[in-house]
Amino acid sequence: MGKNDPFKNAMRQLAEANEIISIDKNIYAQLQHPQRVLEVFLPIKMDDGHVEVFTGWRSQYNDARGPYKGGIRFHPDVSRSEVQALSAWMTWKTAVVNIPLGGGKGGVAVDPKKLSDRELQELSRSYMRAIAKFVGPNLDIPAPDVYTDPRIMGWMLDEYEKMFGAHTPGVITGKPLSIGGSEVREYSTAQGAVYVLLRAAEKLGLAKNSTVAIQGFGNAGSFMAELLERAGYRVAVLSDSHGTICNYMGLKVAEVATHKKNTGSVSGYSGANNEGEKHCLEHEVDILIPAALENSINAENVNLIKTKLIVELANGPISQEAEKVLNRKNILIVPDILANAGGVVVSYFEQVQNASGYYWKKEEVLTRLKEIMDLAFDEVWKEKEKNRTTMRLGAYTLAVRRVEAAMKDRGRN
Ligand code: GLU
Repeated sequence: MGKNDPFKNAMRQLAEANEIISIDKNIYAQLQHPQRVLEVFLPIKMDDGHVEVFTGWRSQYNDARGPYKGGIRFHPDVSRSEVQALSAWMTWKTAVVNIPLGGGKGGVAVDPKKLSDRELQELSRSYMRAIAKFVGPNLDIPAPDVYTDPRIMGWMLDEYEKMFGAHTPGVITGKPLSIGGSEVREYSTAQGAVYVLLRAAEKLGLAKNSTVAIQGFGNAGSFMAELLERAGYRVAVLSDSHGTICNYMGLKVAEVATHKKNTGSVSGYSGANNEGEKHCLEHEVDILIPAALENSINAENVNLIKTKLIVELANGPISQEAEKVLNRKNILIVPDILANAGGVVVSYFEQVQNASGYYWKKEEVLTRLKEIMDLAFDEVWKEKEKNRTTMRLGAYTLAVRRVEAAMKDRGRN
């Protein structure tokens, strides 16, 4: 189950939240579906001259609180159901941190590592052409996600502006700084997670030099490792799809990053014990940070986990069966829709800066981000205490109620 139908799982989470808050029936019925899903077929002339057709989607789940917002994923496992699930999670995410945006998500089923630079640029432009009429600064604003980055956002922005003949930086976020990106955006997902991690660690009384394992060393995971090392934590275990490295004295994150840049993996780094990819979760650490893909913690491996705190940097990294086990063991889980919301919060700041044409300094972005993350953490904690439930359900009930209120105020019930 699960892995094959992520949207069904997302709806199960909604149902669980609804058992606590019983929202309006007519609104609940609408939330069983995205408002719109585009499916696009993208013919790309490959370098050897043959044409390959890639399939992509853009799911617009809910826009009651503001324009649809969410990243674009380039990954071979992307499916319509996954994109829909991710678009629902974006809706709860923007609601839980209370920014005036809805939720959407896009993706293309492709392994971008197998494409040349030219093919990747062609695919990015072609995807933007296909969805252009359905996105815009007041309608739907894409951003980076797994295997997409500022460079790709730059190509997509350029394609959009060519089509409509006007500068429109607010149509996409996570752009390079040179063309309207925001300070901090590149590491904002990790930065936001650090702010909530500090709050959670305080609740559990964890020391500043606690040990950390991070599963996944991509966009979010690598910045998280760097920021936590700088904050005094011991980053003891790091993994990617090729292997796990471990050093309980604390890994030197910058060296690991250079090693990964040169070899394509953390594996083989000389300042650590080298193990297989699966071993990442077996280590006894104070804090575990899943930063890879969905369901990476599941029924098969959950019993190996020995930690006190899990901060979900990835979207949906814990399967529902695994979560039950972790809850029974009293491991505190800071859920994805709160823990990784820093990315979309700074995307929102980027849009505000684009709309005003006036750009903020790094310190200003950090101060405002911290303010939003701290408040959201405290509100979720309060909600969890009030309902005597988990942080995930606390975040869900808070977010779903906010979406319900906006739908009611629009008369959509
Ligand atoms: N892809 C990121 C996420 O899942 C960021 C989305 C955005 O900035 O719109 O939250």
